[in-house]
Amino acid sequence: MLAEIKGLNEECGVFAIWGHEKAAEMTYYGLHALQHRGQEGAGIVTTDGEKLNLHKGVGLVNDVFSEDEFSRLKGHAAIGHVRYATQGGGGYENVQPLVFRSQKNSMALAHNGNLVNAHALKSQLEAQGSILSTTSDTEVIAHLIKRSGNVPIEEAISSALGMIKGAYAFSILTEDQLFIGLDPRGLRPLSIGRLGDAYVVASETCAFDLIGATYEREVRPGELIVIDNDGFRTSQFTSPLQRTLCSMEYVYFSRPDSDLNELNVHASRKTMGKQLANEAPIEADVVTGVPDSSISAAIGFSEATGIPYELGLIKNRYVGRTFIQPSQELREQGVKMKLSAVRGIVEGKRVVMVDDSIVRGTTSRRIVRLLKEAGATEVHVRIASPPIQNPCYYGIDTSTKGELIASSNSVDEIREIIGADSLAFLSTEGLEASIVADRDKQEHGVCQACFTGNYPTEIYPDTVIPAYKD
Ligand code: SF4
Repeated sequence: MLAEIKGLNEECGVFAIWGHEKAAEMTYYGLHALQHRGQEGAGIVTTDGEKLNLHKGVGLVNDVFSEDEFSRLKGHAAIGHVRYATQGGGGYENVQPLVFRSQKNSMALAHNGNLVNAHALKSQLEAQGSILSTTSDTEVIAHLIKRSGNVPIEEAISSALGMIKGAYAFSILTEDQLFIGLDPRGLRPLSIGRLGDAYVVASETCAFDLIGATYEREVRPGELIVIDNDGFRTSQFTSPLQRTLCSMEYVYFSRPDSDLNELNVHASRKTMGKQLANEAPIEADVVTGVPDSSISAAIGFSEATGIPYELGLIKNRYVGRTFIQPSQELREQGVKMKLSAVRGIVEGKRVVMVDDSIVRGTTSRRIVRLLKEAGATEVHVRIASPPIQNPCYYGIDTSTKGELIASSNSVDEIREIIGADSLAFLSTEGLEASIVADRDKQEHGVCQACFTGNYPTEIYPDTVIPAYKD
């Protein structure tokens, strides 16, 4: 579904490259491919071996960068970032990468995820005299690294990582080194590729395809990679734990042409649709998916049931984002402007409407109404993920518990609220079977905490759920 109206938002996307004469340009293209992961700000930092060069700004990648910037962004290595703004956390100063300059060595940081002990660490740092100038977790990581004093930076990063808890996939660029790291549970996706002799790193493999890079492997949970003129070195800053990669990456966030943990996202969504058809079959005339992220699951549902797949809903591609306003009423209008039901397809038909998830229920209710207004005789809603009942603490905006329709309503109550003739969700077992290639492999596990409430890390009493802009 459409992020702006659904209330589900990814926090960020990261990209990095080492050893390419057009490092800034490659990063720009990489960020384009990752634009769906954050539309509020973008930035690139390069190194020419002597100094770090930064350009960043609020807005889409295309708004932030013009040709002129690339003459300043010189260097053979770069890191880049696209970001989704949190409430009170928007604005230029929070756009990443963040650069910390000092006499000896400077560093730039970009990170995706959310630290569950950020609040405690901020209090500790402030008590020890640090002055934090942003509301971003990234700055906390930087201060923890900097306060290690004169130890080699690799050691300082390892020691900082030992203190932070939660979900993080990060890149750090100094004048002469690139560092890449992933949290001990591998909650956020991060892959390594090659572009000729250059190394590339991205939140999603679709960024590799766009620049012609080839996929090498996933960054391992708890891994710290160093790339410099001496080559590529890897170590574990902590023993890897059972991986718990975010299952919502498969359900909703990642692009269908990306591979996560060696499983293609489109293929996994088709399997979710097939599983859903097996778990909750229904007699109907057509299957339709809510564009864009639910189409793969709808195709899977259609293949499993033999009910023809049709384009019963169309996305209106050129609606300006500025129309989306936070009030409930305007949000509903937003759905109408963004989606249309195709009368010629659904009129007089029993329709199965496949969607990837239900957050507040507002969007589903509006789409059911759109289909009925266009003449559908019955609308059966099938959701290709389990009910979202718990907030996410790891960098995905799933809203607070009180806003989640499934946290306080049964499936039948939700069916009634959204006006569907029937409603069914995919089971947690069905989801796991669709996205875990090998359950016995430690690196193939997934997080389903927003469905089950079983969080893979400790959650502290003062853990802050990022309050996102609506
Ligand atoms: S709680 Fe949900 S959204 Fe958050 S990391 Fe886990 S699966 Fe992803």
